[in-house]
Amino acid sequence: MFLSVNQLSIRYPGGATAAVDGVSLGLQAGDIGVLIGPSGCGKTTLLRAVAGLEQASGGSIAMAGETVSAPGTHMPAEQRRIGMVFQDYALFPHLDVGRNVGFGIAQLPKAERAERVAEVLALVGLQGLENRYPHELSGGQQQRVALARALAPRPRLLLLDEPFSNLDVDLRERLAHEVRGILKAAGATALFVTHDQLEAFAIGDVIGVMHQGHLHQWDNAYALYHRPATRFVAEFIGHGVFAPARIRLADNDVHVLTPLGDLQDFEECPLPSAYEGGLCDVLLRADDIVHDDAAPVKAQILRKAFRGSEFLYTLRLASGEELMTHVPSHHNHAVGEWIGIRAEVDHVVTFARGGGPGAPPAPASQGAPAKR
Ligand code: ADP
Repeated sequence: MFLSVNQLSIRYPGGATAAVDGVSLGLQAGDIGVLIGPSGCGKTTLLRAVAGLEQASGGSIAMAGETVSAPGTHMPAEQRRIGMVFQDYALFPHLDVGRNVGFGIAQLPKAERAERVAEVLALVGLQGLENRYPHELSGGQQQRVALARALAPRPRLLLLDEPFSNLDVDLRERLAHEVRGILKAAGATALFVTHDQLEAFAIGDVIGVMHQGHLHQWDNAYALYHRPATRFVAEFIGHGVFAPARIRLADNDVHVLTPLGDLQDFEECPLPSAYEGGLCDVLLRADDIVHDDAAPVKAQILRKAFRGSEFLYTLRLASGEELMTHVPSHHNHAVGEWIGIRAEVDHVVTFARGGGPGAPPAPASQGAPAKR
């Protein structure tokens, strides 16, 4: 692991609880990690600790095998060879693009510096714009100049804190894809903070979901969505509901009895023995529920939200259970209408019945769900 964070805790003076509480994660050289979570969950504090701008109250941070932060050990930020890009990209308005980008490599001989500036500007797709001033560029271009400036000194690690939050929503996802391409082309190792899921999925190789100072899961996007480690992750990533269910063995096969009937033929599911009496809550994602006029189970549309190619319907079964489903938007049903639905579940994700969303994962259960 290039970056390794072990049981890190950060406490602010006077803070009642730790802003970062026992967080462990690892990032391989060349990978892009993303921290995502609601405002105040500790993302920025963790990033600042990696940068060397906050001291560790407990645990440690190592880069390339060297401990840079631990109680009593603190490598100063300027020695860590870390590049940073923040949301208010703070280009120097009175310096042209070339001087902005060359700012961190002033020690290089002039010709070499000009060459490196041209190189990183080409990397971010702004070749030849050395003589422009920041106010002559669009927000997206300015952000790419900030990225070029951070990359110019060849940092060992790049930290990006909500770099797109001042930009239009439409631009953000596209820029996230572009920035991913740029970071990969530069061979950079990066840690990125955002509260936007689309951005996280567009940019990250590994994504960490944080809540109240705890890291609930550090995994790829597929696993976060299909195998969430906690209720919080299940609710934070994607749309879905929890429904009471019972897992049982019948005819040597695992069955899951849900308000939508008996689920079978799935790829993964805990064994009934994982829960007392097999009783649990099952996660039903909006894309696990399929609209089917011929289905015997009917549900009433409570709410609908237009999402372009599809609607997100919130439904209620006759038994009172609520569900969500994505339906192609040419199937335009009215609120109050009853439609046929069935479940098509590949991964059965379950949690202990009635658990709170904020409970961090028990260390023993992390990464080792019971499989059939
Ligand atoms: P996020 O980036 O996820 O929004 P932060 O890392 O900024 O979260 O904040 C985590 C917690 O630490 C919050 O409760 C916040 O109020 C607190 N906090 C952040 N910065 C400071 C500070 N300089 N002094 C005291 N408390 C802080």
